[in-house]
Amino acid sequence: MTAQTTNGQNGSTGGAGHHTLYMVGAIVLAFLVAWLFPHFAASLEMGGEIFLRLLTMVVVPLVMASVMSGILGLGDVRKLGRPGAAAVGYYLSTTILAVVVGVIMVNLIRPGVGFEPPQHEQAAVEVADGALVLDGEMRDSSANPRQSDPRDWVEVTIDGEPYFLPAYEGVKTEPDIGTIFQGLVLMLFSDNLLHSMVDMQLLPLIVFSIIFAGMLTTMGERGKTLTTLLVSINEALLSFVMLLMRFAPLGIFCLVTSRFGEAFAAGEFVTQLKQLSWYVATVLGGLGIHFFLVLPGLLWFFTKRNPYQFIRQMSDALLTAFSTASSSATLPVTMECAEAKAGVSKQSTEFVLPLGATINMDGTALYEAAAAIFIAQIYAGVNPDFEFGLVQQVVIAVTATLAAIGAAGIPEAGLVTMLIVLNAVGLPIEYLPLILPVDWFLDRFRTATNAFGDSVGSAIVDRTFPVPTAAA
Ligand code: ASP
Repeated sequence: MTAQTTNGQNGSTGGAGHHTLYMVGAIVLAFLVAWLFPHFAASLEMGGEIFLRLLTMVVVPLVMASVMSGILGLGDVRKLGRPGAAAVGYYLSTTILAVVVGVIMVNLIRPGVGFEPPQHEQAAVEVADGALVLDGEMRDSSANPRQSDPRDWVEVTIDGEPYFLPAYEGVKTEPDIGTIFQGLVLMLFSDNLLHSMVDMQLLPLIVFSIIFAGMLTTMGERGKTLTTLLVSINEALLSFVMLLMRFAPLGIFCLVTSRFGEAFAAGEFVTQLKQLSWYVATVLGGLGIHFFLVLPGLLWFFTKRNPYQFIRQMSDALLTAFSTASSSATLPVTMECAEAKAGVSKQSTEFVLPLGATINMDGTALYEAAAAIFIAQIYAGVNPDFEFGLVQQVVIAVTATLAAIGAAGIPEAGLVTMLIVLNAVGLPIEYLPLILPVDWFLDRFRTATNAFGDSVGSAIVDRTFPVPTAAA
């Protein structure tokens, strides 16, 4: 294997600063255009869609090739023990920390106390024939969430349009934590590899890749050709991502302009933002604390890296996450930035980031806890019999953690898994449409937080990997 250690130097490193500036500029310009010419802006959707598809296109092969190449680089799957445990420990503890921040913020600000739900158009939600029908507004944020989620799905009709929600037991009946947990464990396994690839179910692909590459390392000479091929596929895919990133400012511009343009063109966005301003402030404040204080604190504590420099190095990934609202679509960029710009080792990015993009969602967890408690505060004002104390808050915290682990890395997946959290404490799902109007907006911030959590994880777990020897 050559060029293992100097991988970061090939390609975009030199122009990183300028490139990032272009991306920031693209987002600022996108806001302005969306605001001034909303109808024109909304018509840029196709450009954004193309960029999104190109990114999403590489996710499945990249995840498989990179996880395999990571294991092959280690030379022995058993060497994954310590870093594996560290990664899972990191994912869990930061998700819990995020939930705690969310719970504290929503209890301090109490955005739901005295909140008057908008009078006009009372949104109706009902569960009929196993389908959840929301008569509210929900954007067509994710064309088909089934693509990246292995659960059973129920068809849902919102304003006459079909949508799909996961058929968690919780959608229909009261879930118990055991059932949710069982669902999560089963998500790791697939009975059909091709099916998982087609549906972009990353978890079973990761499990397969670890086992497969682990076996390859035991095959000696017989596995050599395949090993070389896999490592080279991985490098080629990363070069593809680098090429794609040259168009990122344009892609991002189209994505952001068209989505904000759509919102401004509909004419209600600012009003909705004002109505929900305390709730929005709670979620954004919580995300801000987690993003700028908690995660940087952990990074500094464990690696002594300068966290704000690290944010700069990861900024392309963070801006892409903000623009796409999808951790899965952002994953290729996160990997490229972590390895080429932040200098995180290959093994660590190849293993920690794909898994993290799927199960480590700090922003989503924080949001689910805060949103559920916001709804509980409103409901408690309407229904004095509703008991909402410490126990319920703990149940919300636990289910929000599980719901975030189970959420797919696609736009507004967190809103869908919110159903589990609401059901767990007996909150009416009829209140979900209250937070719908601003969800696409908050989604961007939580996705950026998700991507940042993964990046910090890769840098921290990096330290627990065995020093590379003459492996592979
Ligand atoms: N959009 C988020 C992601 O892809 C998930 C969510 O919170 O809805 O990471």
